[in-house]
Amino acid sequence: MTASLFTSVRVIDGSGDAPFAAEVLVKGNRIAEVARSPETIDAPDATVIDGGGATLMPGLTDAHAHLSFLNAASLGDLTKLTPEAHVLETAKVARLLLDHGYTSMFSGSSARPHTDIAIRDAINAGDIPGPRLLAATQQLTVTGGFGDLGRKGTFASVALDGADAFRHACREAARDGVDIFKIVPSAPGSGPDVLAEDTAMTDAEVAAVCEVARQRNRQVAAHARSAEAVKMCLRHGVDMIYHATLADDEAKDMLEAAKDRVFVAPAMGLPYARLRDAESYGIATDDFTRARATKEIETVSATMAELHQRGVRVLPGGDYGFKWNPHGKNARDLSMFVECFGFTPLQAIRAATAWGSQLISAGLGLGAELGQVKEGYLADLILVDGDPSLEIDILQDRDRLLAIMKDGAFHKAPPTEPLVSRQAAE
Ligand SMILES: [Zn+2]
Repeated sequence: MTASLFTSVRVIDGSGDAPFAAEVLVKGNRIAEVARSPETIDAPDATVIDGGGATLMPGLTDAHAHLSFLNAASLGDLTKLTPEAHVLETAKVARLLLDHGYTSMFSGSSARPHTDIAIRDAINAGDIPGPRLLAATQQLTVTGGFGDLGRKGTFASVALDGADAFRHACREAARDGVDIFKIVPSAPGSGPDVLAEDTAMTDAEVAAVCEVARQRNRQVAAHARSAEAVKMCLRHGVDMIYHATLADDEAKDMLEAAKDRVFVAPAMGLPYARLRDAESYGIATDDFTRARATKEIETVSATMAELHQRGVRVLPGGDYGFKWNPHGKNARDLSMFVECFGFTPLQAIRAATAWGSQLISAGLGLGAELGQVKEGYLADLILVDGDPSLEIDILQDRDRLLAIMKDGAFHKAPPTEPLVSRQAAE
């Protein structure tokens, strides 16, 4: 069995606790021992990696990933490639995400019915590098709902109507091997408020999806911006609620009551990047889009700060995969959690590691064994040049990731020269 011994590292274990100096032994694909300084580990057969004071922490998790959204400029662009070219391009994204320290991804939907499945299976077979991936369906929406563009086709979505149609689609998807049913209970409304949302799915439709999920041991993720959509999801047992932008007091109370079961991911990356970065990618932003993004950020920030205070697990994952919000920038979500939602850096890291892994583990059939630097846990680890508990932004810089390990194997091996002298020379 291969063994690696990390010495002279500061450990952020993912639990939210402060960093501590330690040595960490990995044997096979598991963390075998964590010894806090001044304790040391005696492992004569292990390859020693002298961290030189770098930070060892769990690999990152993204709770709203679209690997097959290939940095599209518009929703209509998502399925322009042939299916064959599409899957090859998606494989490059899988590698890129692991290059950025993301060892687990929960899909927020697949551009085509089987792309996530094919990529997940190729990763698990060792054919291509990539994170642990839970595969989703395309967006299951309703006629005229978000994602159904009518005569212009669809944007990576299937429009369905009635409980039987949703039940059939979910049974088919379970048969074909998806892990996550992605539904779209809310849709942009037409009121005077720029954030106005209709609730587009019915209770019977959401209930049918959740019933198949329970029978087939799958998870349900929902695009739910309106308060009623959030409540509908909670009534029927949806696992992951995206956005929750307009959650009212009753919806927040319901989320708090279900906090040990449900997860929330605001997926604020798109509006955030739209205001800051779209122009630099040559994308014009009209007044309506600007006003909507501004209000979305204000509203989501207040909602997520409150939900976090109430103990709801709010997870990073920001709809990366669009031209102005490209893959690889995912760790910007952690900085956003600190800047906009009042998280401390350690709380943001906990959300992206220990909490994100709770979501992923349910889908992978794992117990409490992923997402922390803890004895017995799976060895998904990143070695960071610097201390992200002091500078959360450094997680966005792949060059600061000195080593990336997934399941006990290095995806990025540590530098061969001693890290201690490398850091001293800088
Ligand atoms: Zn999304």
